[in-house]
Amino acid sequence: MLTAAAAMPAAGFSQQKRPLKNGPIVLSTWDAGLEANIPAWAVLEKGGQALDAVEQGVRHTEDSINCCVGLGANPDRDGRVTLDACIMDHNHNCGSVAFLERIKHPISVARRVMEKTPHVMLVGEGAQQFALAEGFSLEPDKLSAAAQSAYADWLQQSQYKSPTINRENRNDHGPFAPTRLQNGEWNHDTIGMLAMDSQGNLSASCTTSGAGFKMRGRVGDSPIIGAGLFVDNQVGACVATGQGEDVIRVAGASTVVELIRHGRTPQQACAAVIQRIIQIKKERAKDIQVAFIALSNQREIGSYAIHPGFSFAYKDAQRNELIKAQSWFK
Ligand code: ASP
Repeated sequence: MLTAAAAMPAAGFSQQKRPLKNGPIVLSTWDAGLEANIPAWAVLEKGGQALDAVEQGVRHTEDSINCCVGLGANPDRDGRVTLDACIMDHNHNCGSVAFLERIKHPISVARRVMEKTPHVMLVGEGAQQFALAEGFSLEPDKLSAAAQSAYADWLQQSQYKSPTINRENRNDHGPFAPTRLQNGEWNHDTIGMLAMDSQGNLSASCTTSGAGFKMRGRVGDSPIIGAGLFVDNQVGACVATGQGEDVIRVAGASTVVELIRHGRTPQQACAAVIQRIIQIKKERAKDIQVAFIALSNQREIGSYAIHPGFSFAYKDAQRNELIKAQSWFK
């Protein structure tokens, strides 16, 4: 049973986990965040801007072979890799791309959308055309070896059915529900990054292939400003990972930031929005993973997930370490 008591926000981070009183900070999702924090930090320690840091940080993950980020990631049900990304700075400037194919660094295309167009979001063929016009290269139309073998396995187990049939069969989670790996971790690896620079300004980025073996055309929360990511320099920043459909339903990242605006700590705000998702999903919350990380402009950090197994990488001048997030289910 899901009771309100089970949803009590946890006490938060202990004193020694608190950020330093000054200097830049970077936070990013999942274990890959530890490596991604390093290029982000290289920008920040030279006095660079948070915006450059969050772009450089997640570009590192886009370059690596990762199940869920960049062109090496798992494809959709048709065997094509489609990528989503967005970025937001301390002045509410934001840019986003979705359903982008064959471009190596969607995060940098998102930044160009922000800086060079009057728009916030470009998708699909139009996003690709824009990227090419901006000088990005069209990469070969082929899967990484890891993705090829994962796709071959998926094809054996999963018949290609209409979404309605799959939805019914899978109790509303669709064919792209996150799966638990043998070690209990979830098969999600979107990288979301939050940074504060030495000026105290916040920025955030997020980049993903979404969900492996998703329906063609599916876009999750990650490129949606306000759902997957949100920054308000007067308050804080938040980024989400996990089942994107359920993050969109509660306008996840902007709701976390609004709760911080109204007095919650980042930890309490993340826990409250996870609680809201659980109230909506009821028993079906057992089958999904969602996690948020947040950083306030007062330098407080917070994170909360539905299930155990989510960690985020925290970096300041003294350390770069993985912190296990607290979760609803224990
Ligand atoms: N939030 C991403 C999506 O739903 C997936 C993830 O974070 O793993 O597209």
